[in-house]
Amino acid sequence: MDRILVIDDSAVQTGFLCSILEEDYEITACRTAEEGLEAAKEGRYSLILLDVVMPGKDGFELLQELKATEVTRYVPVILLTSLSDAQYEERGLLLGAVDYVTKPFNPVIIKARVNTHIQLYHYQMRFKEQAMVDELTGVANRRRYEDESAARWREAVRFELPFSICMFDIDKFKVYNDTFGHPAGDQVIKAVAQKASAYFQRSTDLFARYGGEEFVAVFLGNQGVSAFEFMKTVRQSVEDMHIPHNSQVSPWVTISVGGITLTPQPGDKMGDYLKLADAMLYDAKNMGRNRVVWSNQQREQWREK
Ligand code: GH3
Ligand code: MG
Ligand code: MG
Repeated sequence: MDRILVIDDSAVQTGFLCSILEEDYEITACRTAEEGLEAAKEGRYSLILLDVVMPGKDGFELLQELKATEVTRYVPVILLTSLSDAQYEERGLLLGAVDYVTKPFNPVIIKARVNTHIQLYHYQMRFKEQAMVDELTGVANRRRYEDESAARWREAVRFELPFSICMFDIDKFKVYNDTFGHPAGDQVIKAVAQKASAYFQRSTDLFARYGGEEFVAVFLGNQGVSAFEFMKTVRQSVEDMHIPHNSQVSPWVTISVGGITLTPQPGDKMGDYLKLADAMLYDAKNMGRNRVVWSNQQREQWREK
């Protein structure tokens, strides 16, 4: 059942709204903007009904805060105004409210508008989700990588956590396509993506298709050696799928992996770390492929085989 947050200083109004909507929705009512903001930040609501005129912080101020906060930005807000507040409507809509309803409420109209906006919200969220997923493999796409890796990076800086970033690439994949055809190649990319993504299940892990037959992974908290060992397991699991290949590297489809583990220092740029990971991948390719090459803050390097 969708959840609706009602923010209105009048108990009579919130009571009335609840009686109209509680049959179809789970309603939470808050009496002040401050309380409402805290509740909204929990990220559980599909819609917010917001009173404009309230003592203390008013609906406009709160609306601005909701639109500036990542978790609440996309949640539709319907303003509750009395007819005498009509001049406010324009301001509210310009600030990002999707709609307004005027008091005294007409139950049928409120219900209809709420239903419509919740439906639109779901469409929008589904669309947003799809825009972040790689169509072929079902894993995160490059766009999502750009978004989420920045968030992981900020966490690592803030909590002074070791940050691992890794690039990997299917070995001699051009040969694979030339031998078995492009559609078969697509299936290999898919199989590799699904196998590898199963290893990145922590809430702070990120695994994405970077492009073509290249993938990128970000994870927090491991020291260099442990990240290296972990990626060896991932690499081995791809080889162990035993997908036939004639790459001269192995009889099977394999990947080469390059990465680094560093604790970000203020002023560091994540893009530079990715370049270092890519340089390790380059080394892994040059050393014969189907191996992991990893580095750390001290520029120590671990090489498989
Ligand atoms: P290396 O071991 O050095 O990585 O050799 P490689 O042949 O894999 O490297 P290269 O970058 O020269 O070739 C990558 C190939 O991957 C070429 C391209 O046709 C293929 N490729 C890229 N994206 C896709 C895709 O979406 N589907 C398929 N089937 N092939 C793809
Ligand atoms: Mg490549
Ligand atoms: Mg390749």
